[in-house]
Amino acid sequence: MIALSARQRWLTAVPYLTVLLFLAVIAALVWLTRSYDEEEQRATLISDVLWMEQNLQFKLERNAAQLAQIGQEILAADRHQPQAAAALRQLVRSENGLVRVMWLDAAGRLQGALPPIGEGEMLGESLGEQSASSFRLAQALERRVYGQAYAAAGNRQQFEVHVPIYTEGGFAGAVVGVYSLHDLVTHELPWWFAERYRVSVLDGDGRELVSKSKVAPLSDRQSYSMAFDPPGGDLTLQVTAYQGETRWVQVLLIGSILLLGGILVWSVLQLRRELQRRHRAEQALRSESLFRRAMEDSMLTGLRARDLDGRITYVNPAFCRMVGYSAEELIGRTPPMPYWDPEFLQQTQEIHDRILGGDASPEGFELRLRRKNGERFDALIFEAPLIDAAGRHTGWMGSMLDITAQKRAEELARQQEERLQATSRLITMGEMASTLAHELNQPLAAIASYNTGCLNRLEQPSIDRTELKDIFDRIGRQARRAGDIIRRVHDFVRRSEPKREPLDINLMIREAIGLIEADSTKRGMRIETELEEALPAVAADPVMIEQVIVNLVRNGMDAMRDNPPARRTVRVSTRREGDTLVVRVADNGTGIDPETGRRLFEPFFTTKAEGMGMGLNICRSIAELHHGRLGFETNPDGGTIFTLSLPVETP
Ligand code: ADP
Repeated sequence: MIALSARQRWLTAVPYLTVLLFLAVIAALVWLTRSYDEEEQRATLISDVLWMEQNLQFKLERNAAQLAQIGQEILAADRHQPQAAAALRQLVRSENGLVRVMWLDAAGRLQGALPPIGEGEMLGESLGEQSASSFRLAQALERRVYGQAYAAAGNRQQFEVHVPIYTEGGFAGAVVGVYSLHDLVTHELPWWFAERYRVSVLDGDGRELVSKSKVAPLSDRQSYSMAFDPPGGDLTLQVTAYQGETRWVQVLLIGSILLLGGILVWSVLQLRRELQRRHRAEQALRSESLFRRAMEDSMLTGLRARDLDGRITYVNPAFCRMVGYSAEELIGRTPPMPYWDPEFLQQTQEIHDRILGGDASPEGFELRLRRKNGERFDALIFEAPLIDAAGRHTGWMGSMLDITAQKRAEELARQQEERLQATSRLITMGEMASTLAHELNQPLAAIASYNTGCLNRLEQPSIDRTELKDIFDRIGRQARRAGDIIRRVHDFVRRSEPKREPLDINLMIREAIGLIEADSTKRGMRIETELEEALPAVAADPVMIEQVIVNLVRNGMDAMRDNPPARRTVRVSTRREGDTLVVRVADNGTGIDPETGRRLFEPFFTTKAEGMGMGLNICRSIAELHHGRLGFETNPDGGTIFTLSLPVETP
């Protein structure tokens, strides 16, 4: 939940308060209008009722006056005058409220009536006690008297007016007008009054005797009651206003105000919710953008955005650190950029144009750039199209890595490698030189000893020429061998491929043994051979193979140096085993302990005082050059067996 400050809480409460206030004001206005309307209505009602009363009074007055006039004529004359009869008929009409007119003599006896009273017609109270008392009262008071209302036949409410008639002879009787309460109320009122009000007459108990309308009024709030006088008694005239149509307008008005108010509250609530949602989203966006900014700022990779024209639109701090320019100095710049190296301006511009042309290599490209302080550095730059939220291509995003240190390290490594190679070449040269010395030692020693032999023979008186020739032959062979060794070493140094030719391996072994025979005899060693006949040829360099055999045999002899004479034999054997020819050189020497065995083929590993430790290393290289293998195993007869396997030459 988001904590709101007191001010914010106030701000959010203001719309609610305003809405409430607005509703209250509207309600008050409606109420005031209503009560004003009611007041108005009531005033109209009262004035209308007064008007009606006036009207009734006037009508009754007029009727009474007419009755008095007609009475004069009827009671004074001996016989009925036709004008009087016509006037009577005119008078007795429902519009006037009169249902009958009777005339009585001075003694109160009925003289006549219009309409005439029928034979069986019930007169009810009309001529009863009440009527008689009204008659007497009129006579005594000498003015008209209204009697009390009574129920006539058919439960019709009636009342009478007794008008005393005086002639020259004094009191002549009375004319009695019988009013129908119903007719009076219904016919005496104009239509507009009836439409606006419900008029009813109530008796003392509140019972409705007569009413102008059958429809009950909706409310009795707008009603006015007064004593119905005449006819006197405890009759009440009640006038009630019908509920006007204005009520519906009001209901509609109030309803729509309430509805609008409700909508207003709802929309304020929605607005508030929306506001809170926006606030939350904004907060999330802010922290997200802060996180991204922190990420960009803490990144070691330089980031640079450009628009489609190549203008810089964004750089991150790492980029600024790399080039030494501030973001303000860079943003808005177009090429050539200040950090481009003037020496590589052309090349940089070309790369820049290529990127803007959409030809950015995904592997990135290396560029030499220049910092503000003039220092140069190598940068690895990756460019990718910048796509905005709408999917439009708006520019290019470049990430830049300072690879100066890495390049320097690479250069250093390269130099070291070169130096190492030179050293190793030197070592190899050294090795070769020693090998050369080692190998040449043999033929040279042999030549020297044959030479001594020759000189000895020459000092003797008789010279055996064939023997001498044989010695010279041997000298020549050893000299050729020395030459071959030098050539081979030369080839080896040049790292040329071995000279391959089909070779009879047995012949090679015999020749090799021939080379070291003299030496072995001198050391009291024997060399025995066990060669399988009719072996297939192998493709090999004869000098190299010869060198391997000589080396292995010599190592065997060295190992048997301290052996008794009976156990001083090196056995060289050949055998075909499948597709390989295996040469075995076995001795009964000291054997090879595991430690020595592990290091045997390492260059310069030797256990001998005068040894070089290069022999086996070179032998193995030669075997591998011929796609063969050099290995060793313990001789079950004591000592070691070295095995050289060579693939049989397939035609
Ligand atoms: P070098 O003969 O100059 O010492 P090699 O590489 O030919 O160099 O031999 C390395 C070492 O291997 C020898 O010093 C010796 O200890 C051991 N070695 C080689 N051949 C034999 C063998 N047949 N019997 C015992 N030890 C051997």
